[in-house]
Formats: sequence, C-alpha cells, structure tokens
Amino acid sequence: MAADSTVISNTENLMKYMSLDQRGRVQAEYIWIDAVGGTRSKTKTLSKPVKSVDELPEWNFDGSSTGQAPGDNSDVYLRPVAFFPDPFRQGDNILVLCETWDSDGSPNKFNYRHDAARLMETNAKEEFWFGLEQEYTLLGTDGWPYGWPRGGFPGAQGPYYCGVGTGKVYCRDIVEAHYRACLYAGINISGINAEVMPSQWEYQVGPCPGIDSKFDSPFLMNFPIHELTGVEVGDHLWMSRFILHRVAEEFGVRISFEPKPIKGEWNGAGLHSNVSTASTRAEGGMKAIEAAMKKLEARHIEHIAVYGEGNEERLTGRHETGNIDKFSYGVADRGGSIRIPRQVAKDGKGYFEDRRPASNADPYQITGIIVETMCGGL
Ligand code: ADP
Ligand code: MN
Ligand code: MN
Ligand code: MN
Ligand code: MN
Repeated sequence: MAADSTVISNTENLMKYMSLDQRGRVQAEYIWIDAVGGTRSKTKTLSKPVKSVDELPEWNFDGSSTGQAPGDNSDVYLRPVAFFPDPFRQGDNILVLCETWDSDGSPNKFNYRHDAARLMETNAKEEFWFGLEQEYTLLGTDGWPYGWPRGGFPGAQGPYYCGVGTGKVYCRDIVEAHYRACLYAGINISGINAEVMPSQWEYQVGPCPGIDSKFDSPFLMNFPIHELTGVEVGDHLWMSRFILHRVAEEFGVRISFEPKPIKGEWNGAGLHSNVSTASTRAEGGMKAIEAAMKKLEARHIEHIAVYGEGNEERLTGRHETGNIDKFSYGVADRGGSIRIPRQVAKDGKGYFEDRRPASNADPYQITGIIVETMCGGL
C-alpha cells in the first residue's frame, strides 16, 4: 500500500526500541468506550505479569475530556473486566478492557456493559450464544473510501464481495494484520470476508462452537479459546474494534463503522447478530425460534432504538436489508429483519440472524436487549 504523506513513522527505528528489555515490568493498555462509540486508551506500568483480572488495579481518567463527565466533577473510574495478550507490544504486555464508573458509585452513562452483564448472568441457564458479523469501511485520510478514485466512484458492485485480485479488493494488508493480531490476542474471531462495497470488509466474532484450543506458553495458558457466552462476546468485539483502529493507524488508514458511509447504490455496513440458546439448539428448536420471532416482533421499535445511529439510512428494504418501519422474518431471506438460515429450517433447530443492527451499534446493547426480549427484564 502506498504510504500516505501525512503519516510520519519509522518502523525500523521503532523496532530498535521495542526490542529493549523491559526489566520485568509490564505495560498494561487500559481501554474504555467513550461517549460516541469510540475507544480510548492509556498505559499503566505494572510491576509484574498478571494472571487474573482481579490483580489489575482500578484507575481513572479525565471524563471532561471525553464527554463522559462534567468539568467540575471529572474523574471517571476504570474497572478492569477482561484482559488479552497485547499483539502490539507482545511479551507479557496486555490489553485491558475496562468498564467506566462515576465517582458516586454508579455506572457511567456510556457503560452499557454493566446492565448487559447482569441480564446475561440472570439468564445464564438459557446458554445464549452470539455470533456477531462486524462490517466496516476503510477510508483514506481524506475520508473517501480507500482506493476509490478521488472524488469519484469505482465500477458498480458485483466483483468485490469475497473478491480476489487487483481492483477487486483493497487494504488486504490491514485486514490480514488485524486478523492475525486478533488471533494473537485470543479474540474469538471466526472468519473474515471482503464485502459487496469495495473497501468494505467483515469479520465475525462469535461463539466458534467446536473450536477449543489452548496456547502453549505459560503466560498464554490464561487465554484459552472457548465458546463465548454471556457478555464475553461484547468484550471480544470491543477489543477487536480497538485492535482494528490501532492497526489501521499504523497504515495511515481510517476505520469507519458508519452504517451508510456512501449514499446511493452502495451497500451499507451492519453488525448482523446470530443468536441461539440451549432451546433453539435442541431437537425441535424451531418452536423456540418461532416463539422468539413473536416476542421480537412486539418490541421492534425498542430494538431499533439501540441498533445504531444513522441506521435509517441503511435499513431501506434494499441492498440486503429489511425496512426499518416493519418487522419481518423468513427462511434464507436477506431482505428481512431476521433471517432463519436454510440449514436451520431443514434441521428444525439452530440459530437465527438478526440483520437489523448497524455496524456502529454497541454489542452490549444488542445482546442485552435480545436477552431481555426473549427472557424478560431484570
Ligand atoms: P452470513 O451467511 O450471514 O454472512 P457468517 O458466516 O458471516 O454468516 O456469520 C455467521 C455467524 O454465526 C458466525 O459468527 C458464527 O460463529 C455464528 N454462529 C454459528 N452458529 C451459531 C449458533 N448456533 N448460535 C449463535 N451463533 C452462531
Ligand atoms: Mn494530565
Ligand atoms: Mn457474514
Ligand atoms: Mn456481510
Ligand atoms: Mn450475515
């Protein structure tokens, strides 16, 4: 990829310093979600490697600088909830995902994880599994999709989905770097594909049933790949978003999670959410799926309210979406709110795909409201 003239970096020089001995101390990158669905982070030095999340100290940040607190009471607390091997600094260094808490002891306004975690715990016996398909668009520093003619458009959609070859895919280097970095970090990423709109890609973070592996180093033993349950899928998705922004930063490319980055005959970007429970996966699970459809239909408006900003531009009933004003579902139907995969209908059990969430939606809010609708609130 051509280097952008605005990117000032010197990888060769940097590597000289990154290989210096860090004298047993650990760099912990504390990461949190800000007021507009972005990630922020800052680094803390720890005196030794960490084996469990309770060993990680609480920290704080200036919430008035992120729109998360007023200036006269600006401290917001960072409570570590999950940690991952750091693919950037490597070694014993870690990425630490945090919840945000206000000084009065209540969850910060933008801490959607807290309620989701409670809902998941209350309904743990249902054994929810979620598989999230994160779509996103790569933009140049000028804000136009990477590789598109400046101020112009590439040829119409068709050759780009799962495309191979020059002119059909863009930024494969960033995508590959992100995929590998996620695997290194122990993110449960189940696959990737190039999307219908050029410079748009997708990866899936999901339950990965059947995949069960352990790392062999003593440090990495703390991060077995396992089926993601409850609130973990949201944790992994947020961490994968952080990693994506961070990788793209090194290439001088911007990541957009906007649901309809380019108006007109170009596909939008979603966060299809695949859902199953012990009942839908059991023999005759289709009955449980049908029951879920009834409940989801009754709360369509409530779901749309938390399924992402600007989603009305995307959910038009065209470009493989359902109409925002009307709930619908069907077998193999990519033009509805919810799709029941053909194989699921054939087996009479399995999962369904909620196609409504936008790419910029919060996974805690999505999975939380699905559990609430199917099982009842707290
Ligand atoms: P699509 O055909 O919609 O593009 P993908 O293969 O991109 O489908 O994504 C399907 C997602 O569904 C994956 O993340 C996968 O792990 C997930 N999935 C598969 N089986 C289940 C299940 N039983 N419950 C929940 N999610 C599942
Ligand atoms: Mn300061
Ligand atoms: Mn997909
Ligand atoms: Mn897709
Ligand atoms: Mn899908």
